[in-house]
Amino acid sequence: MSLIQHFVNGKSYKGNSNRKGKVFNPATGEQESEVILGSKEDLNNTVNIARKAFESWSAKPPLQRARVMFKFKELIERNSEEIAKLIVSEHGKVYEDAKGSLTRGLEVVEFACGIPQMLKGEFTENVGSEVDSWSIRQPLGVCAGITPFNFPAMVPMWMFPMAIACGNSFILKPSEKDPSCSFKLAELLSEAGLPDGVLNVVNGDKEVVDAILENKDIQAVSFVGSTPIAKYIYENAAHNEKRVQALGGAKNHCVVMPDCDLDQAVNGLMGAAYGSAGERCMAQSVAVAVGDIGDRLVDKLSKKVEVLKVGPGMDKNSEMGPLITKEHLEKVRGYVDIGVKEGAKLVVDGRNLKLQGYEKGFFIGGCLFDNVKKDMRIYKEEIFGPVLSVVRAKDFEEASKLVNDHEYGNGVSIFTRDGDAARTFSSKIKVGMVGINIPIPVPMAFHSFGGWKRSLFGDQHMHGPEGVRFYTKLKTITSRWPSGIRSNPEFVMPTMK
Ligand code: NAD
Repeated sequence: MSLIQHFVNGKSYKGNSNRKGKVFNPATGEQESEVILGSKEDLNNTVNIARKAFESWSAKPPLQRARVMFKFKELIERNSEEIAKLIVSEHGKVYEDAKGSLTRGLEVVEFACGIPQMLKGEFTENVGSEVDSWSIRQPLGVCAGITPFNFPAMVPMWMFPMAIACGNSFILKPSEKDPSCSFKLAELLSEAGLPDGVLNVVNGDKEVVDAILENKDIQAVSFVGSTPIAKYIYENAAHNEKRVQALGGAKNHCVVMPDCDLDQAVNGLMGAAYGSAGERCMAQSVAVAVGDIGDRLVDKLSKKVEVLKVGPGMDKNSEMGPLITKEHLEKVRGYVDIGVKEGAKLVVDGRNLKLQGYEKGFFIGGCLFDNVKKDMRIYKEEIFGPVLSVVRAKDFEEASKLVNDHEYGNGVSIFTRDGDAARTFSSKIKVGMVGINIPIPVPMAFHSFGGWKRSLFGDQHMHGPEGVRFYTKLKTITSRWPSGIRSNPEFVMPTMK
């Protein structure tokens, strides 16, 4: 059985921990490898290495840093098949979806290639008489990222290309459920010419996370994962005087208006609810049927959910793969049981799906609920599986209120042909990412990604312009070069007269 190690100072590193985690292939249900669960000491040793690497890396001109990113981009493209297969083997999602997620991560690398432009700063000549002023953004030092299982390549790539292009060194703590991608990406960045110690991967669980939060030499922490852990990271990182952005869970609504193109909405919902087995933070798990469209929506959806092709991710015919672990499968099944008990109507039941040859795999079929009410647990809580709940609302106002009252505010979409409704919706809705006739409105790399309410703790979204702001600090310099004139001491605030 293979052993997944840390990647520190440009090479694999065993560290001093005896603890190991199990990594499964979710399609077969078999354990495929072990991952070292690092210790506090492993993390602290890595921080010392990253601190030294920061000194010379931050002094490199941004153009040189960008050239490493250009080379990294080329290497990812060349190795995309291998990386996508790694994603499928440890996460379970279907191959084309895995490739798509890698491309979305690659786009952040492409954005990071333009870092000289992003770091240009601002200059004002003559802020006062013969006084000039300019602002620059400087890197922070050692930054850390803690990432979830559901996007083992893309989410780490939201973080480290931006942090590193800005001149920081970085320590990544990937999910212990599918850690191989992070190791591979670190190897490729090293091959692209990144100096040793600038990007390090320390595998582990809570012990490494807590060591990150406590280490005084880590300046900033980026986190993506579930809301309770995001809150824990936010509170403890802030308590230890670190900059922090902590992205949490979601319950994304799709508002289906009576005037919409229903086939378009149904197709959009199918991909958004069941793609990646619903294990996406931008998955749509609630469809709000407005006015009289409910029966037609449920009818069309149920016909499609019943024939959803569930199978291993490497099978070209599969539309949806397995869930990540046996425990998660049980949790999702449990939520379906709860929904039935709560009185929602289970229109399609995927709980008993069995796949020949993959009996031990973590598979569940697509599930569809109708008549879900806002006080039910299946409406309030994030299930993170292929379970779509249809809630009925009498009008646009009631639908918008449902979205605004929900504790999560990651993504939302509306399907309509009414420009007025769409414009009001995008202006008034209390959610960070909004789609109009777009089911999964994930912003491109040159915008920034982030939710509102309990889907994000902190001020800055990920990557794009917000990423540059997060991974740099602002310095403003005011200067004059007097010759001959000797000014007297001034005891009042200088102002422009
Ligand atoms: P998780 O919160 O269980 O784990 C995320 C990370 O935190 C992992 O690296 C894990 O090792 C670490 N961790 C777990 N428990 C911890 C603890 N008690 N103390 C310290 N660290 C701990 O999340 P997950 O199950 O890997 O991922 C799924 C969740 O991530 C979902 O809630 C999903 O919505 C969310 N997510 C959000 C976004 C977003 O952009 N908002 C993107 C992807 C995933």
